[in-house]
Amino acid sequence: MPPAAPASPVSAKSAGLRIAVVGAGIIGLSAALEMRARGADVVVYDSGTDLGAGATIRSAGMLGAAFEWAVEEDQKALAALARHAGMIWPDFAGRVERLAGGGIEFSREGALVVARTAAEISWIEDIAAACQARGLPVQRLTAAELKRLEPGLSDDIRGGLLLPEDRQVDSSLVLQRLGAALSRHGVGLRLGRKIERIVGGALFQTPDGDRFNRIVLATGAGALPEFVGPRGASLAHGLPVSVPVKGQMLALAAGAAMPRHVIHMREGYIAPKARWTLVGATSERGRQDVEVDRAAIADLRRRGALAVPALAQAEEVTSWAGVRPGTPDDAPLIGQTAIPGVFAALGHFRNGILFAPATAEIVADQAIDGKVSPLAAAFDPLRFDNGGEAPHSP
Ligand SMILES: Cc1cc2nc3c(=O)[nH]c(=O)nc-3n(C[C@H](O)[C@H](O)[C@H](O)COP(=O)(O)OP(=O)(O)OC[C@H]3O[C@@H](n4cnc5c(N)ncnc54)[C@H](O)[C@@H]3O)c2cc1C
Repeated sequence: MPPAAPASPVSAKSAGLRIAVVGAGIIGLSAALEMRARGADVVVYDSGTDLGAGATIRSAGMLGAAFEWAVEEDQKALAALARHAGMIWPDFAGRVERLAGGGIEFSREGALVVARTAAEISWIEDIAAACQARGLPVQRLTAAELKRLEPGLSDDIRGGLLLPEDRQVDSSLVLQRLGAALSRHGVGLRLGRKIERIVGGALFQTPDGDRFNRIVLATGAGALPEFVGPRGASLAHGLPVSVPVKGQMLALAAGAAMPRHVIHMREGYIAPKARWTLVGATSERGRQDVEVDRAAIADLRRRGALAVPALAQAEEVTSWAGVRPGTPDDAPLIGQTAIPGVFAALGHFRNGILFAPATAEIVADQAIDGKVSPLAAAFDPLRFDNGGEAPHSP
């Protein structure tokens, strides 16, 4: 067997452990990498014939540990998860790049938050105050300072913030590099295999007849497999129904007039990558189709151009829609399900790229070492005891 991916201590408890991961998005692949690094024998299944069938490559790749969570007063566990993920992302990025032998465009430029109106100035003040209260680095910037950082910003921008530790990646590159790193380190990638049924017993059996000690469900917004016992009776996993949230995105040609930083506006964002500049995104709860609506795309461009006027004329390269895997309380489901040996890594909603390395640690801690860290407790997949309503907000 090829060597386990280095960088995590090989756990004595992984000896002889075979783990199947269902879903090869960023969550499944990151969990597979971490479990392989701890010495387990791991196989990943995906229904797509290539990597990238799910939300991951349709995302903006922003790692918004501060922007996303600073002002979410009632989401302390999510803020802690975001903060931890933000802290470990630089190491994770380096590890993936090293193991794969290629880059993921991990950018340390930081993110800007900009304001045009009095209401938006008060919005950014709230973000700055919340960052300071939580010890998150933040810098207030005048319009002139913003212009020095991003000359293409509109003259209407009155002020803003720099969040120096909010980073970004190209999520399509992350997925490719994770796939390469896993293949090089002995993880089987079985693409074009939709897993609709798993038979439980002393071991779990997948439809190709292979047997595993553990199953990790990382199907994003996709349908979960059915679990049946050795005599055909259905096994209940106790997971709530997924809440799809459609997001449409516009990709404009990259060029000298485009910004270098991620720019957040009150309604939308601009995320520049080497090959294009992304302008996002809609948030359509309950929708799981991937139709692109031209009016919605035009609206994304219009909003982006309020911050960076060059967006109004930039050439459109493409546009798309993806489905964020939501949950009834907007927090992920990470940990053991009602079926012993079956673990969830689901429901990462609008922050799956950010959360991926933290989720991978939690899954490996539980599936291999049987440990539930204090950080993980709030994301127990069985916190919904009535199949939908959250008993408490994590
Ligand atoms: C427009 C948009 C913008 C976003 N921007 C950001 C952002 O900037 N930052 C951020 O952190 N997050 C962002 N997100 C959210 C992020 O994309 C998701 O949270 C993340 O990609 C979820 O990853 P995942 O691996 O759980 O799911 P996915 O990437 O969807 O992967 C799930 C995989 O499981 C496979 N699958 C499903 N069912 C089965 C089955 N039964 N058998 C086998 N395979 C199966 C699918 O084919 C798929 O490949 C954005 C999302 C969208 C839509």
